[in-house]
Amino acid sequence: MSTVYNFCAGPAMLPPPVMAKAQAELLDWQGQGVSVMEVSHRGAPFIALAKTSEADLRELMNIPDNYHVLFMHGGGRGQFAAVVNNFLGNNGKALYLLSGQWSKSAADEAVRLVGEAHVDTIEIVSKVNGLNQVTLPEFNGPATQYRYVHYCPNETVDGIEIFEEINAPWPVIADMSSTIMSRPVDVSKFGMIYAGAQKNIGPSGLSIVIVRKDLLQLSAINPSSIMDYRIAAAHDSMFNTPPTFAWYLAAEVFKWLQQLGGVAAIETQNKQKAELLYQCIDELAFYKNGVAPQNRSRMNVTFQLQDEALNKDFLADAEALGLVALKGHRIVGGMRASIYNAMPLAGVQKLVDFMRAFAEKHT
Ligand code: PMP
Repeated sequence: MSTVYNFCAGPAMLPPPVMAKAQAELLDWQGQGVSVMEVSHRGAPFIALAKTSEADLRELMNIPDNYHVLFMHGGGRGQFAAVVNNFLGNNGKALYLLSGQWSKSAADEAVRLVGEAHVDTIEIVSKVNGLNQVTLPEFNGPATQYRYVHYCPNETVDGIEIFEEINAPWPVIADMSSTIMSRPVDVSKFGMIYAGAQKNIGPSGLSIVIVRKDLLQLSAINPSSIMDYRIAAAHDSMFNTPPTFAWYLAAEVFKWLQQLGGVAAIETQNKQKAELLYQCIDELAFYKNGVAPQNRSRMNVTFQLQDEALNKDFLADAEALGLVALKGHRIVGGMRASIYNAMPLAGVQKLVDFMRAFAEKHT
């Protein structure tokens, strides 16, 4: 079988060496004669895995000691609700910055749980010279005392990334589901960072929460026990049975990333991959991308064919070459190449070669 390059936005491809190791260990983890899925999370081997994985993630992201690192259930959307339940009471207000589908979904969940009166929103994307561009609001002192400001630094569907920091007088909460560990961030600038795992971390279902310890005093609505950050922190993320296999794979992904040189090293590769692809889109009149250069996502490269009638052929020809899952999200259409940490440069090079050949054939 020739190599398949999987550009799925999530669940996304995982590093092949990690998958091979998981395969080798599937029936016998650490000489126990059983898999990691079949042992108690309270046994010494799994507790050791949990501790090591947290230490590795702390090292990779340079997470300060005054932050908890939690391994939780429920993916990205689970955290949309948990954030509200943990931090926003019926007498509090939160601010949501809207930059695309996922930040809007997070705001919708907040409204669903506490009502519109407790949720303010600011649309931060507008068309400038025909391109989607982010303009961050200036906060001139806390006119409203928000419990937190929430935003999504990388909009997976829209292909919009925010590289600037949010300067706000309230704790900043970031949904980093599709950008976590793709580039260094200064964790100390955030009240909380969370991410569904299925892009840069591991299998779906797991979510990572990095939360400043003092914020846990804000707890407001009495969340369900398994979504309560205080309970999760007090039980080392093992109040109930955690998603152990997903956690194990995440731990292996952290090790893989450390061996590559960490987040700064992968950022260099991620820049290279994204530049190669955007350069091809810009060079050929056959393709277009509708995002302002400073907000082009490094992880989710969205693009359209000028002639949409060729979409089907494009996808079929790509798939025949082993370039799969390039169809854009149904809401925005077009194409999307998700090139997370695990995607090698060779995959992007093969995609670019194909795009050039396809354009030539149809011009
Ligand atoms: N936030 C972002 C930025 C996402 O990309 C996604 C999923 N693609 C989610 C949240 C939702 O994640 P989940 O499906 O794990 O709930």
